[in-house]
This record gives sequence, structure tokens and C-alpha cells, in this order.
Amino acid sequence: MGVSKVLNDVLTRASGKEAPEHDATTAARPATSAVPALPVSGDAVADLREAIRAKLAFAIGKSPETARERDWFAATALALRDRIVAACAASNRTVPNKRVYYLSLEFLIGRLLSDAMNNLGLVETTRAALKDLGVDLGTVEGAEPDAALGNGGLGRLAACFMESMASIGLPAYGYGIRYDHGLFRQSFENGWQREAPETWLAEGNPWEFARPDATYTIGFGGHVTMSMVSEGVIRRNWQPAETVKAVAHDVPVVGWKGRTVNTLRLWKAEAEQPVDLAQFNGGDHVGAVANRMRAEAISRVLYPSDSTSAGQELRLRQEYFFTSASLQDLVRRHVAERGDVRSLPDHAAIQLNDTHPAIAVPELMRILLEDHGLTWDDAWHVTTNTLNYTNHTLLPEALETWPVELMERLLPRHMQIIYLINWMHLEEQAKNGRSDAAHLASVSLIDESHGRRVRMGHLAFHGSRRVNGVSALHTELMRKTVFADLHALDPDKIVNKTNGITFRRWFHNANPGLTRLAVEAVGADVLDNPELLKGLDALAQDASFVERYAAVRRGRKEALAEIIYDRAGVSVDPSALFDVQIKRIHEYKRQLLNVIETVALYQAIKAEPHKDWTPRVKIFGGKAAPSYTQAKLIIKLACDVARAVNDDPEVADRLKVVFLPNYSVSLAEAIIPAADLSEQISTAGMEASGTGNMKFALNGALTVGTLDGANIEIRDHVGAENIFIFGLDAAGVQARAAEPHYARDAIWNSPRLAAALDMIASGRFSPEEPNRFRPLTDDLRHRDQYLLTVDFDDYWRAQREIDAAWNDPAAWWKRAIHNTARMAWFSSDRSMREYAEEIWRVRVA
Ligand SMILES: *Cc1c(COP(=O)(O)O)cnc(C)c1O
Repeated sequence: MGVSKVLNDVLTRASGKEAPEHDATTAARPATSAVPALPVSGDAVADLREAIRAKLAFAIGKSPETARERDWFAATALALRDRIVAACAASNRTVPNKRVYYLSLEFLIGRLLSDAMNNLGLVETTRAALKDLGVDLGTVEGAEPDAALGNGGLGRLAACFMESMASIGLPAYGYGIRYDHGLFRQSFENGWQREAPETWLAEGNPWEFARPDATYTIGFGGHVTMSMVSEGVIRRNWQPAETVKAVAHDVPVVGWKGRTVNTLRLWKAEAEQPVDLAQFNGGDHVGAVANRMRAEAISRVLYPSDSTSAGQELRLRQEYFFTSASLQDLVRRHVAERGDVRSLPDHAAIQLNDTHPAIAVPELMRILLEDHGLTWDDAWHVTTNTLNYTNHTLLPEALETWPVELMERLLPRHMQIIYLINWMHLEEQAKNGRSDAAHLASVSLIDESHGRRVRMGHLAFHGSRRVNGVSALHTELMRKTVFADLHALDPDKIVNKTNGITFRRWFHNANPGLTRLAVEAVGADVLDNPELLKGLDALAQDASFVERYAAVRRGRKEALAEIIYDRAGVSVDPSALFDVQIKRIHEYKRQLLNVIETVALYQAIKAEPHKDWTPRVKIFGGKAAPSYTQAKLIIKLACDVARAVNDDPEVADRLKVVFLPNYSVSLAEAIIPAADLSEQISTAGMEASGTGNMKFALNGALTVGTLDGANIEIRDHVGAENIFIFGLDAAGVQARAAEPHYARDAIWNSPRLAAALDMIASGRFSPEEPNRFRPLTDDLRHRDQYLLTVDFDDYWRAQREIDAAWNDPAAWWKRAIHNTARMAWFSSDRSMREYAEEIWRVRVA
């Protein structure tokens, strides 16, 4: 792949209007100009055109006359996939010295067409080829369903990391589950969230290769037998009662400039026997497939909870299923290439994304002991030098623990191994004179305080070589809180690796207009090296640059205004301040704080209708876990407040409130480039990192945020004068939470907050059910676990400072440009280089 060709391709892309919407559930991608500014090679266009035509005819079985948008998408994807495979054949000729294996229960990928085209340098070629066929590229892009195999930040991080590893040339496999149904589709019925199954695979997935030759057997239940392998040497063997097949499905991940093609290997669960023929012939047609249904249930749906542990048997089955298949696969590959399993740590680095694959610790031990006959010590050495664990949260409700009873029933051999690991671990403490009960209880892998449960975080920690947090603050809190005692035993184990985002998706693809502006200003090398964005600092007060920067934003705000009208039925003025909070709905993320501030602002406008209020559009988006009652009530409140505010003629265009349904990666790509203000207002100490915060700041939205997660590092990079910080820091939160009656006192001291809460509690926004929101207001008055009342007044202050700042456009745009100029460090390429060097010990080209 010629480098200049890729650059040429990116350079010719221009920003434009949103493409028309074709699927109400997904956002259309921003179309780029139909006429490229630089010529595209005629041969390349003709080649691709004929390839697409052939795929349409021979792989899809359609003619151009009968093809639907979805068919054109599939034909285009298949034609591009051929080129990815060709790039793959070119890049993967030699066995790499060391591979990275990224195990994640979630990959929130989104659409892949724009990624593939952009990284192959074929955006303009594809556009021209489709144009020859009478088809619009934006339309085709809009026909791709989002691969939503994740809930939120954790899954999106895995997707960004996969793209970055391919882009920096790091040989890697991602391992996960090929869910038939990804994250549910959200709609609103009178402002209440409704969930419908998501069906991304309904018409197949043109990106993937089914690999029935890579199939593994996964066991569950049963018992453990013992046999004497030689004098005094006893081998234990697991005899599962039930087995399920894991069948690989590979999605190629092509890096920037087609440099490297890695594989995302997703496992599908299949029954050993598709049908019990004897049962079928006996007339029991349903019973004959019952086993198959039970097996296939494992990869049927993504668990839709975020930051809470589901704790159900099917979830544990999912976790073990994909972890075991992945370990069997990578061990087999290693042995085929290197012969001896003992050298695994030299040639493989395994990253556990959160504790979901933590069962890898006993599973790798089991494989090494049972299948490869290693001694316990050798197996433990291999395991603890190959595995690494990323912690994503310290919230108690999110820390996974499994009842010992369930583990013994589902994974009896693993429970034995965990007991043995724990016994040796605690013996070691005793040997070092640390046999006091409190210490042992704190470091034990088994929590005996409420029933006996396996602590998966402790298990992952103890079985790993390195354990990382995802922002500087989060890593510090890991050392001081949940893992303090384990940390003291091995102070080098915990390291920090601040999260990042892939700039190809969140800048080049999502914001081609701004990218083109950056290229024109600082040169095309900025596409390879985002540090060159620093050159924009010098243009932050250059009138013509500022005008063009603002024009790009304006174009995207107009496009978002259309989406808002189409999906929420609200007209908004693109010249108003677009204030955006899009993320999963969770109490710690404090969407409720934003809604209450909205109510207070509404009251203030009503009290002084003639004051020159800064026009604002408050935009919300995000899904609540279906079982999370309080989060769903917060959505309902936002929708009810929106209805009241938007219908109030006295408020007019000074305040509009919208809740966009079905937040997704595609919708994020449409919203973020149109945002002026980014809401990152979690209770300090509770958001491990955040990555939405990085996407916004890169695209030039100013942040209003707390000193939490990566917000702190964003402030350090963009400069304190270019971000709006408010509220208590993590230490302040800890101190205040220890005071009695802090919420009551805070409400007492804030007439504005008290009035807003009274208005909500009075039923003003829910006249048909006046007490509807009492669960929210009562909780704030009596408990307020997330210290919303305590931070309210300072949040209000920051918002009014923002109003004033908006009214000084030159100063506002200067700050925005400084944000874009200084965000390079938050590229996930940087994160991956740090992991490669300090955790995986892999050399990157
Ligand atoms: C980036 C992203 C997230 C994570 O957002 P946070 O604000 O960090 O919680 C969640 N969902 C989608 C679709 C994203 O793109």
C-alpha cells in the first residue's frame, strides 16, 4: 500500500452534510464531497467498481437493479475484505517473536466500513467506484449495522485498542464472544425506556470468516478423577458432565495504511449434537433440540449491565466459555510454532480486560497441568509470567465475586485449583510473619464475610505479572483502597496505563472537516503523528483559522440539528451552545445533577424572562441497564423536563432539552463533532478514566468536569484555563461522605437546589403522577451516595461561567483550538505503546 496514495485519499476528503438517514436506529455517517479535489487513479476505481459488481452478482446474488442499500453495503464490504486479506498475506509472512492476546467479554466496535476504507486509503476510490454504479457512499455506510458487542467504555476501549495495535504494527489477537444479539435497541414510550433485541447478524456479517477448523470443546460440571502417573505423582483430571463447542469467527482488523492486519476472533457456542435423533424420532421434537438451545444460549446475548456484576450462572458460563476457547487456541498455536509450552511467556502476552476473563488463571493452570503435564511450580511460573490484568472500576457493586457453591458445581476442577493457589498464597503470608486474621482475610482469594465467594479481582491480581489501572488517579486509588494489601506484597505489580482513543475513528473518520483543516494547517504528517496537532496552538487567535474551525463546527451542528428533529421531534437553533452528556446512565455519572441544573436554569429563566440568557441546547443520550430502576427513572425525568421546557413559550429558544434515543458508536460519531460543551461530571474517585471525555476534547468541545479519572490528565494537557473544573476532588468526596447529614446540610445551604428539588418533587413535571420522581428526590435528601447535592452550587457556578465564556467567541474558540492542539497524548496508539513496552515486553516497529 503506497503511503502517498493513502495520504492523497485522506486529503481529498471534505466535510459536508449528513447523509440521509436510512435506518432509524442508527446514525448515517457524515458524507464527504462527491467530487474529490485531487484525482483518484482511474484504474483503481475501475478495479474496485468491477470487484463490487462481481460481489453483488456472485456473492450476494443480486443485480444492480434489485440491490437494496444493505446489498450494496455487503458487496462493498466483501470487495474491501479481499483487499484486507491481500494486505494480511503481505504483512503476516513471518511468525512474530511475540504476540499479544487481548481477552475481552466486550468489543463495542460500531461500523467497520469507514475504518477499513480509511486505513486502506480507499475512501475516495470507493466513493468513485460506487458513484460509477449509481450509488452514494454515504448511503452505503448508513446501511451497515453497528456491531454493538459491548455496553460502553470498557468495550469501546477494547475496540480502540484493537485498531491501534494494528496501526502501530503490534501482532495481536482479540478474543471475545460473537453474540447473536448485541446491546439492546433503546426507544422511548412516553419518555420511558423500552428495550428491543438488537439484530446485527440478521443478514450475516460480510467482514467475518467462519473458521470451523478452529473449534474447541468447552466443559462444564462433572467431577475430578485422580490417577497415578508415576510413583508418588498423582494427576487430577476433570471429567465434565456437559460439553459445548466454541467455533471461531474471525474479523480482520486492518491498521492505518494497511500496515498490519490483526484478527479479532469471536467464539460462537454450538452444541456437540445439533439434534437428538432418538428423541426426535420418538416424537419429542422440542426435547430433541433442547440441548442445542442450552448450548447456544451461551453466545446468544450480551449482558446489558454496565458497572454492575450480573452474578448469574449464564454469565459465568459465558466467561469460562470464551476464556477457555481462547487459551486452548493460543496454547495450541504456541506449541505448533515453538514446540515447548514452557516458553509461552517469551512469545505470548495475555491481557485480561477486567475480571470477566479472570478464570484464565485456573484455566491456564489446568491446561498446563492436565494437558501438558507440567509440575505445579512450572505451571504457576508460566501462568504468572503470561497473564496481565486491567482493572476498570473500584465500585463495590461492580467487583465480580462468584459463590463457591456455584463454582464447585460448574467448574469443579477450577475451584480445586483456586483453593490450592489460595492455600499457597496464604501459607506464604504466614511464612513472612503475616498470619493475623485481618490480613489473611484481606488478601485471601475467598471472601468469607457474606457466604463464601471467589474474589475474581484478587484472583486476577494474584495470577498476573502486571496489573494496571486506567488513569493516574484510578491507579493511585487502586493502590490505596481495594488492592492496598495485595499491593504491599508486590509494589511493582500495579502500573498505570491511562486509556486512549483511536484518532482514526474519533478524528479522521468522525470529523473529516476538522481533520482536513488540521492537515492544511500543520501538514499531512499529522495523520501519522498526532503530536503535530500542537502546531494548531499558534493559530488559536488567527482570525481566518478560527473562522474555518468555527465553520466546521457549525456544519456539524446543523447536521445534528436535523438528526435531533428527525429522532426527537425538537427544533433547535444551531447557533445555541450545544451542551452534551452522552454515556451510559449511571448514578455515579450524575446525569441527575445535569437534569437538576436544567430545572434550576428553567426556574431562573422563568423568574427573569427578560435577562439575556445564553441560548443552550442540553443534549442527553445513553442507555440504562434494563433492571436499573433508578437509572430508568432518571431518563424519564430528563424526558419529562424536556417536554415542559420545550413547550414553554416563555423560555423559547433560550433553553431546549433533548434526549436522543439509542445511543451507539455511530450516534457518538455524529454528536461529538457537533458538541460545544462536554459534560464529564462523575463523583470524583468513581469514574476510572472515561474515554468519552477524550473524544470531545480532541474535537474541540470544552469540558465541564470534576477532578475524576482522565479529566485530571486532560486538564494537565490542555491547560487549566481551557477546561471548567468544579466540585470536590476524590479526597474531598471521601472526607465529606464521612460527615453525617451532608445532603441535608447542602440542600439547606442552597436555596436554588432546594427550589429545584421541590419543583421536581411537587409533580410539576409529572402532573399525571405527582409522586413519580419521589424515589429520586427522597434519595437525594436522605442518602445522596454520589454527593450530587454537595457539588450542585459549584456546578451551577461553573455553568454560569460557561455562559459568560460563550458570549466571548474569540476567547471560546481559542480555548477550543487549544483543546484540539493538546490532546495528542490521548491517542490509544500511545496507550498501546506503553502496554507493549512496560507490560507485554514486545518491541514495536
Ligand atoms: C466512548 C463511548 C463510551 C464511553 O463513554 P464515557 O463517557 O467514557 O462513559 C460509551 N459508549 C459509546 C458508544 C462510546 O463511543
